[in-house]
Amino acid sequence: MKFTTPRGTKDILPEEIPLWNQVEETCRRQLGLYGYREIRTPLFEESALFVRSLGTASDIVSKQMLNVATAGKEERYSLRPEATAAIVRAYLEHNLDKKEGFVRLFYVGPMFRGERPQKGRLRQFHHIGVEAIGLTSPWLDAEIIILAVRVLEALGISGFNLKMNSLGCEKDEARLAQVLKESLKDKLPEFCADCQARFDKNIFRLLDCKENSCRQLVAKLNLTDKYLCPECGDYFNAVQEKLKLLKIPFTVSNTLVRGLDYYTHTVFEISHPDLGAQDALGAGGRYDNLVKELGGEAKGAMGFAFGFERLLLAMPKAKPQPAQTAVFIACLGEPAQQSGFLLLDDLRKNGISSTMAYTPLSFKSQLRQADDLNTKLVVLIGDEEIRDQQFTLKDMSTGTQEKISAQAIIEEIAKRIAK
Ligand code: AMP
Repeated sequence: MKFTTPRGTKDILPEEIPLWNQVEETCRRQLGLYGYREIRTPLFEESALFVRSLGTASDIVSKQMLNVATAGKEERYSLRPEATAAIVRAYLEHNLDKKEGFVRLFYVGPMFRGERPQKGRLRQFHHIGVEAIGLTSPWLDAEIIILAVRVLEALGISGFNLKMNSLGCEKDEARLAQVLKESLKDKLPEFCADCQARFDKNIFRLLDCKENSCRQLVAKLNLTDKYLCPECGDYFNAVQEKLKLLKIPFTVSNTLVRGLDYYTHTVFEISHPDLGAQDALGAGGRYDNLVKELGGEAKGAMGFAFGFERLLLAMPKAKPQPAQTAVFIACLGEPAQQSGFLLLDDLRKNGISSTMAYTPLSFKSQLRQADDLNTKLVVLIGDEEIRDQQFTLKDMSTGTQEKISAQAIIEEIAKRIAK
């Protein structure tokens, strides 16, 4: 019987890891520059946390939760479909609201959604995202959106489109729901069955349905932002002014509402034309009601998440440098193998990446292995080297080799690697 990865999941092979690390390091550097600190929460949480935060009418809760079966007990836990709810849970659980008030946090890691897998849509994918909790200010909304743009720029991604909108306060949302119902009721039979069922439960979900036919109907909608009260209108204008101040291009899209219940005020999405049907690189928004909803005092908050796999798809296709093992130790015969094994341990203790073959092979084959690993130096140890206690050191880039005493070899290798 042959096992394969579960549907909608992927192995990330060693040859892909350098690129993943490079993206993660670039993001971490950028997020650190803006004062965001990393937080790690469990990969599963109580299902009720997600139901409460994301809303029962959201696609995630109604169709995509991957529940964790615990032996003999009812399923109470779900693999996390996103991190915002868990981070607000942690913010409250550890009293960060009282100790720090306002926090800037970021996270990286796998998320799980039982979606129908297709290009760009996985069941296990990765997010890199931020949450700034404890403040409502258009300056912060602008910072978050600017940060998202700067992350993409730092990754060398260009040609993306930033769309934003404001859902306003609760009253505005109710007004918007009414406007939407009015504009869509005649078109309802043309929407998918899910959307038809959602019309009464949560009209906003029709706007971010992933079905192509529904997306086309929504694209034709012509809404104004008249549903915003003066205060929320001013807030949204203030966010836009700050983006203009920094010359960040954006468009306002009145049909952008985002798929989750917790969003209020500013929402945004960044898409890339090269990604095909699943073109969202990342998205986010303000969620001023969530802290209270999860049992804290009312506090404003905002965040975003990028899909890691989609960042990789949108990045310029530069080949990452293969990981380099600095030293390969090639040995012939058992005594040489023992000396080589000791040297290997010493090199690694000295912080020099090194490896050796554990099967008997000719020097020629071992040198080929070293070449495949892109090794800088090879130490050759045979009977002669053991007898003289002089190891042969070969420089793989120049092909030159010389004898170095066993006592001096580590120092010599360290010197050459530092060059
Ligand atoms: P969301 O929380 O759905 O707004 O997700 C934020 C970002 O994560 C999206 O813009 C995508 O880039 C990515 N993403 C969401 N769902 C998936 C998925 N099933 N597979 C791959 N990437 C995803």
